[in-house]
Amino acid sequence: MNDRIHNFSAGPSALPTAVMQEMQEGLLSYRGSGMSVMEMSHRGDLFMGIIEEARTRIKRLYGLSDDYEVLFVHGGASLQFAMIPMNFIGEGQIAEYIETGTWSTKAIAEARIQNKGVRVAASSGDREFCYIPKVSDISADAPFVHMTTNNTVRGTQWHDLPDTGGVPLIADMSSDILSRPLDVSPFGMIYGGAQKNMGPSGTAVVILRRDMVEKIPQTLPTMLSYRTYVDKESMFNTPATFPIYAISLVTKWLEETMGGLAAVEAVNKRKAGALYTLIDEDDFYCGTADKASRSLMNVTFRLKDRELEPLFVEQSLASGLAGLKGHKSVGGIRASIYNAVSEASVAALCEFMNDFRRKHR
Ligand code: PMP
Repeated sequence: MNDRIHNFSAGPSALPTAVMQEMQEGLLSYRGSGMSVMEMSHRGDLFMGIIEEARTRIKRLYGLSDDYEVLFVHGGASLQFAMIPMNFIGEGQIAEYIETGTWSTKAIAEARIQNKGVRVAASSGDREFCYIPKVSDISADAPFVHMTTNNTVRGTQWHDLPDTGGVPLIADMSSDILSRPLDVSPFGMIYGGAQKNMGPSGTAVVILRRDMVEKIPQTLPTMLSYRTYVDKESMFNTPATFPIYAISLVTKWLEETMGGLAAVEAVNKRKAGALYTLIDEDDFYCGTADKASRSLMNVTFRLKDRELEPLFVEQSLASGLAGLKGHKSVGGIRASIYNAVSEASVAALCEFMNDFRRKHR
């Protein structure tokens, strides 16, 4: 497919070409049904098979036991920011939140809007969120500790989980879900919008430990209670059928083509390593995150001469490299190199960066 661009968009972002082709082949007639997945009943056998496959593959990739439910919830990751405090911060309880930039800050704000008990247990706001903070003294009474495993805007990522003394972790993994193997045991809940590592936008994937369900109050509106999604297997109303179909194909690709999460992580490390090595060669490019906190998913950097950044973005696009402009709140350059961004795309970016440096040094 020669007209596919090298896509470094932060989200929605690149999907595996093979997955797009498989969707294309079945677009008008899925498995000989004469209908598109978009056109069929969510309660029919064909779609029930699709959602079950998506669930099963996610469970297998993470090695989840039956203690965990895999749910598909509308409203993206941002709705989870609001649902988490409703579902899990009880009367008089104070939840611990770790603040590492834009998305964690929004999660905290959603709990505060509801007048819920919130404590910021650690923050890297003192240095513009360029590092992962140390976490200590988590209250044993806290219902959960909320963290964002990968900070899409700032380009930082947790490489070791914080010690919460047994308090369940709730993690926003929107931008690094399914990018590496995970010991799920400390997590009460994991969630992420689909549109970076899993499929198109339109649903969030929520992985919920069963003991968390018991804590959910009975008084919540039906669609805002995780219990509904557990009891009705994400089918209380019409789920986002096509995104879930895409997730079933992306997770199949992760298992069957990529060879599982350990293999995916090795590729992701090579991709990020190539870019960080180039950035560190001299001071023409400057990484924005502390080295120990650098993300394998979003590589953020500036040019020493910031006035050259618009030219960098313009010329990269002209060279077939899209989506490199940094988030509007921070500027600079960001290369999002999620699972579906190939090593060949990263090599093309490295070549462009070397070339640009040579010409503008
Ligand atoms: N959390 C993180 C880490 C994100 O990167 C994003 C989107 N960029 C969100 C949450 C918000 O996701 P959504 O648009 O699905 O609400």
